[in-house]
Amino acid sequence: MAANKKLLVLPGDGVGPEVMREVIRVIDWMDRKRRASFDIAEDLVGGSAIDARGVAITPDTVARAKAADAVLFGSVGGPKWDHLGFEHRPELAILTLRRELGLFANLRPAVVLDPLVGASSLKPEIVKGLDLMIVRESTGGIYFGEPRGIETLPDGSKRGVNTEVYTTLEIERVGRVAFELARKRQGRVCSVEKANVMESGLLWRQTVTALQAREYPDIAISHMYADNCAMQLVRNPRQFDVIVTSNLFGDLLSDLASMLTGSLGMLPSATLGAPDATGRRHALYEPIHGSAPDIAGKGVANPLAQMLSFAMLLRYSFDMEEDAALIETACTNVLASGLRTADVMAPGCAKVGTHVMGEAVLRELDKLAA
Ligand code: NAD
Repeated sequence: MAANKKLLVLPGDGVGPEVMREVIRVIDWMDRKRRASFDIAEDLVGGSAIDARGVAITPDTVARAKAADAVLFGSVGGPKWDHLGFEHRPELAILTLRRELGLFANLRPAVVLDPLVGASSLKPEIVKGLDLMIVRESTGGIYFGEPRGIETLPDGSKRGVNTEVYTTLEIERVGRVAFELARKRQGRVCSVEKANVMESGLLWRQTVTALQAREYPDIAISHMYADNCAMQLVRNPRQFDVIVTSNLFGDLLSDLASMLTGSLGMLPSATLGAPDATGRRHALYEPIHGSAPDIAGKGVANPLAQMLSFAMLLRYSFDMEEDAALIETACTNVLASGLRTADVMAPGCAKVGTHVMGEAVLRELDKLAA
C-alpha cells in the first residue's frame, strides 16, 4: 500500500456535508481494500465557520490546507449569511484558499456520460461522447487588474474601470498546465482570447505560440477568438480537447460548457497551483455546484459531483489514474443501471436520495474491483 496521503476535507454548508459524507465512505472503501490510505483532517469553512468562530476561514485552517497534499472542498454559503457584507461572507473561504495556496489554474471538465446524454439541452448526436477540459486562469486578468474602481467625474456622472492585464509568466504557467493535460489526453490545445481587439489577448496568443514551439512540439495548438469559441462550443463541442483561456473568458465559457452536460449535480472541478522543485503542487477539488440551500437537509442532493471531484484529486494530485477511472466508471454504471437523484431523473428510472446513491456507488466499486 502507498504511503499515507494527507487530505484536508472542508465540507462547508448546505448540501456540502451531505455529499461529502458519501465521498468519505468511498475513501474508507479504498482504505479497506488496501488500494490507498489517506490521513484525513476535517475543518469548518464558510457559514459554519462564521457561526462557530466568527470568520469564514481561520489562519489555522489555511495553514492546514497548505500542509495537506490536497484539499477536498464542498460548498459554502446560504441565505442565513446573505446579509453579511462582502468582507465577511462565507465565499471568502474559497477566495482566501485560492489566494493563499496560489491556485491559478481552474480545470473544468465537461464530460457527457452515456446514460445522461438525454439530460443535455443539445441534441444527443451533438454531445454524445463529449469529453473536453477547460483550463481557466483564475488569479489574474480583469477580475484582479489595477486600476479598478468607480470614480465620479467633474460633471457628476460616474466612470467604472477594470483592467485586463496578463504577464508572460502568468500566461506561461497556465499554458503549461493545459499542455501537460493535453499530453495525457488527445494531445490538442485550443488557446482562446480576443487577440483581434485586445493587446492582452495578443500577448496571450504570442506567448502560448512560443511556449508550444519551445516546450510542447508534440502537442497540436490552435487559436480561437472567444466569441467564436462560445459559438463552436454549442455548434460542435466535440472538436475540442483542452481549451486554455483567461479568467474572464474562462468564467463564461466553462459555465457554457458545463451546461452541455445537463446537470450541476454531476460536475467536478480542480484548481491547481504551480509545482515546486519536487513536483508537489497545492490543489483544491470541489464540485461546481453551490450549497443548494433549497434542497439542503433533505437527503436528496446528488453526491456524484463531489465523488467525481475526489476522482480528479486522485488523478491530478496523486497520479492514481486507475483508481480515478474506477470511481468514474462506478458512477457511470450506477446511472446506467437506472438509479437517479432528482436532478438527473429521467422517465423509467428509479429516484433515490443522496445516501442510496452513495451505497450504489460502493456496491459498484465492490463489483468492479472483485
Ligand atoms: P447552487 O449550485 O447551490 O444551486 C443551483 C440549483 O442547482 C439549485 O436548484 C440546487 O438545488 C441545484 N443543485 C445544486 N447542487 C446540486 C446537487 N448536488 N444535487 C442536486 N441539485 C443540486 O447555486 P445557487 O443557488 O446560486 O447558490 C446557493 C449558495 O451557494 C449561495 O450562497 C452561493 O453563493 C453559494 N455558492 C457556493 C459555491 C462554492 O462554494 N464554490 C459555488 C456556487 C454557489
